[in-house]
Amino acid sequence: MAQACATVGREVDSVALLAVSKRKPASQIRAAFAAGQTAFGENYLQEALLKQQELEDLPLQWHYIGPLQSNKCKSIAQHFDWAHSIERKSVALKLSQARAPQATPLQVCLQVNIDAEASKSGCAPDDLAELAQTVAQLPGLKLRGLMCIPSPDGDPHSAFGRLRELLHSLPQTYKLDTLSMGMSNDLESAVAQGSTLVRIGTAIFGARDN
Ligand SMILES: *Cc1c(COP(=O)(O)O)cnc(C)c1O
Repeated sequence: MAQACATVGREVDSVALLAVSKRKPASQIRAAFAAGQTAFGENYLQEALLKQQELEDLPLQWHYIGPLQSNKCKSIAQHFDWAHSIERKSVALKLSQARAPQATPLQVCLQVNIDAEASKSGCAPDDLAELAQTVAQLPGLKLRGLMCIPSPDGDPHSAFGRLRELLHSLPQTYKLDTLSMGMSNDLESAVAQGSTLVRIGTAIFGARDN
């Protein structure tokens, strides 16, 4: 990350590191925490809840980055600090309703289907402005920015550039500050295109078995 920032003249602390710990045991999260990492990303709700229990003694920040199905919203709103993968209004409403009123709002990103892939999650770029307008008004959510996963067959550099432009196309009154983009294989492109948060699994914890 430091190299990627230096190459394009960015400050190293302008990009946050989310350690993606899906399919990895709590012991590896504990080791990463001991090395100074506090923010962790998970894709699978049941697995994440078990690890959260095991790691209750640590001051960790939990990010949900997997697909957001309606039946998981309540639990995600109760057990996570962030959700990166909001793609439709109904899910945003459920998350907001389930967030405890006295808690800090759930910090959220809208996932954009940036390469218009038939099989991929994310809202279409054309629907983004309307979704953002809804989410920005929900009391249980704090809209922070956008997230994408580029197509493996496409050009990630171009996809990341388009996500940045979409962020800038939204009203400034939302005060968006987050571009959640970049994974182990494309973090340099993402940083060059203005990522503020990279989601890194394999390059930290090693390959996943499944
Ligand atoms: C698994 C995953 C990552 C991490 O991917 P790596 O290639 O292991 O770095 C990042 N973001 C999302 C949404 C993921 O599902």
